[in-house]
Amino acid sequence: MSYLAKNYNRKKISFKYGKGSYLYSIDNKKYLDFVQGIAVNSLGHAHPRLIKAIKDQSKKLWHVSNAFQIPEGEKLAKNLCKKTFADYVMFQNSGAEATEAAIKVARRYFYSIGKPYKNRILCIKNSFHGRTLAAIYASGSKKMTEGFGPKIPGFDHIIFKDSKPRFPKIRSRIKRSTAAIMVETILGEGGIKIIPDKCLRYLRKICNEKKILLILDEVQCGIGRSGDFFAFEQSKVKPDIVPIAKGIGGGFPIGAVLMNKKVAVGMTAGTHGSTFGGNPLAMAVGNTVMDIVSNKNFLNNVKKSSRYFLSNLNKIKNQYPKIIKEIRGRGLLIGIKVFKDQTIFIKKLMDNKLLTIRAAENVIRILPPLNVKKNEIGKALKIITKVCSELK
Ligand SMILES: *Cc1c(COP(=O)(O)O)cnc(C)c1O
Repeated sequence: MSYLAKNYNRKKISFKYGKGSYLYSIDNKKYLDFVQGIAVNSLGHAHPRLIKAIKDQSKKLWHVSNAFQIPEGEKLAKNLCKKTFADYVMFQNSGAEATEAAIKVARRYFYSIGKPYKNRILCIKNSFHGRTLAAIYASGSKKMTEGFGPKIPGFDHIIFKDSKPRFPKIRSRIKRSTAAIMVETILGEGGIKIIPDKCLRYLRKICNEKKILLILDEVQCGIGRSGDFFAFEQSKVKPDIVPIAKGIGGGFPIGAVLMNKKVAVGMTAGTHGSTFGGNPLAMAVGNTVMDIVSNKNFLNNVKKSSRYFLSNLNKIKNQYPKIIKEIRGRGLLIGIKVFKDQTIFIKKLMDNKLLTIRAAENVIRILPPLNVKKNEIGKALKIITKVCSELK
């Protein structure tokens, strides 16, 4: 009997502890964890530097109100700005809060320049921005919004197609009232679908033309997950607003909105707040994750691991073309699209001690820690090959 609400279909397994890429279950089995809390534990389980950071800070100060200065938060904000497009940061506690705050920043910007009628956000149909009321209507997914009406107004939708043109009729969807386009740079829950660099540049161009803002949701694909600090970097596009969360806390809940100078003018004192957002404990951990992940050598290693993983997954795909349809992804945000329902595949991987998680479109999502070792990837490849041979 569980007293937890049944909003999750939980697997019948629980864990005692974790170390790096591994999780150890209550019944003493060792699992290769390539879920890592869904791209949250960017440095794996029980990273010594994160343990030290939280231990040291926990003896000093856990929480003070944002009514006071928080030096640990100042430091993380400065670091995030120095390494990215951003000029200002606003801390939250989760991805959904960060995307909602991103929407608030966009609306408030137009309000502050005397165009309050510009308040609608154009999103990709069936994308994912979190589970709060506004975020589910931003995604426009029937599954997520059903039964949660009345509908939150202010969102319009475009289709992101697998074939060209990727964003058909997008110009006609932008109205006088449109404030921003908000998309995930790589659609995570949606099935690890990458928006090609060219299309990102096209979105930026349209935003410039129409004088609207570009919000890139990097909650899942950001913080080194793609092999760059942000997934949009290789396109050379500069967004106006970027919500982040998952990976930046390395397992501790942190969300944030990054923004440029232009849009920040609207966020004057009292316009937004968060009791827990940016607390010293969270910031101490965030600073440590940031120090490690934003390092060029670290990111080069993510790219190296990615090349090894992806090229070998493609070999498995060629070996089993009737089982695997496509290998998707960038960096260590990887998807295996299979022909049949992916549930059986995921179950078999788990039986073989490899943990993965589903995404839309029959995709098995693979999210190792960013510091995963080559031999651990090798182990996963062996298990994936074995499961393919069993399903044949
Ligand atoms: C996970 C996710 C969110 C929501 O994050 P929560 O912390 O679960 O609220 C938002 N956007 C994207 C792209 C995500 O992957």
